Amino acid sequence: MSFESLGLLPELLRAVREQGYETPTPIQAQAIPIVLEGRDLMGRAQTGTGKTAGFTLPLLQRLAPHASASASPARHPIRALILTPTRELAMQVEESVRTYGRHIPLRSTTIFGGVNINPQTKALRAGVEILVATPGRLLDHQQQGNLNFSQLEVVVLDEADRMLDMGFIRDIRKIISLLPAQRQTLLFSATFTDEIKQLASAFLKNPALVEVTPRNSAAELVRQVVHPVDRERKRALLAHLIQSRGLEQVLVFTRTKHGANRLSEQLDKDGISSMAIHGNKSQPQRIKALADFKKGAVRVLVATDIAARGLDIDQLPHVVNYELPQVPEDYIHRIGRTGRAGSEGEALSLVCVDEQRLLKDIEKLLRKDLPKQVVTGYAPDPSIPAEPIENGRRSGRPGGGRPAGGSSSRASAPRPRRSGGRAQ
Ligand code: AMP
Repeated sequence: MSFESLGLLPELLRAVREQGYETPTPIQAQAIPIVLEGRDLMGRAQTGTGKTAGFTLPLLQRLAPHASASASPARHPIRALILTPTRELAMQVEESVRTYGRHIPLRSTTIFGGVNINPQTKALRAGVEILVATPGRLLDHQQQGNLNFSQLEVVVLDEADRMLDMGFIRDIRKIISLLPAQRQTLLFSATFTDEIKQLASAFLKNPALVEVTPRNSAAELVRQVVHPVDRERKRALLAHLIQSRGLEQVLVFTRTKHGANRLSEQLDKDGISSMAIHGNKSQPQRIKALADFKKGAVRVLVATDIAARGLDIDQLPHVVNYELPQVPEDYIHRIGRTGRAGSEGEALSLVCVDEQRLLKDIEKLLRKDLPKQVVTGYAPDPSIPAEPIENGRRSGRPGGGRPAGGSSSRASAPRPRRSGGRAQ
């Protein structure tokens, strides 16, 4: 299977070659011909499978006949809308649109909350064919009269499950109601829950179904190890592992925003440069943290699940689960950050006595037991009783529950959000 055989335009094949891609990933091989045909598509695929190129390449091809060098905004109506749950994902998707579309004169822009609306309004008024947006800010622009979808041909709901988790369902319904009925709809989701199926049956017409497992499926490329350790000694163990093994570019997951901040501060005190990335950080702070991490100026990035979702950091060597996620699927998302594009990665989990239930659930999902390795000097004390974690809280200690990991847990109750809500 080659990109040529998928029937892509020479301009797109050139861009793909320039990216160094040799063969289409399974989701690309399956999705590209379907999207080119103009059919609706429901794709079950996670980040790391190459899904972005899977919908972006054929979308660019479908819009290519409209490409125009004209400066007139009227010649650049919105023809494709890509909805994403987070700002980070919106930025990354638009970067892909620019990358794959670099030899086709179509315009794109991205709109998301948390930043000044005016430059976005200006970009919209100048005219763009491809708009990448988070739902809340999109509706803000709609209310201000900045959007006209009369020429829209394709809408993509990317990471639809996350959008639902984040409480965007009403916004999505509202947005879809603004679009022409005659259009192509693509929906991507890591899971096909009943809610997603309902959404699909409401908005998609006779969709083709495409399902893939992540390229770096947990079982394959990622070396996974569990280090049993006492809850109070996790930080010391993490610092020890990073320093004794000289680990660089380590992505560390915590369950809560607060935990991410605290850990990042403590690592800094240990002389390990680190930054936290989560929903309470401003957009410039997040962009800077990610950029510093990518260029190696920051050794450790501490993240919550939602903040890390959609982060495109290629071939990340090490992922550490400082705390296991509440939802087993999030473990797979997390370790999907490592071993990308065929290179091996390593996922370490620091697991204390409170997390045995979470570990069991993950092993059940993976259908295998993870190897356990006690690090010398960090053996857990068997006399410490468990305070199992339920719904993000430690139980067992009177009044000792920690705040629920609201930002990081799919199982947590839906959070109330303001209209035009700034996602996480
Ligand atoms: P995605 O799942 O869309 O987030 O893509 C995951 C990563 O795979 C991105 O860094 C892409 O640049 C990369 N990628 C996408 N398609 C291919 C391909 N056909 N060959 C190699 N790498 C790819």
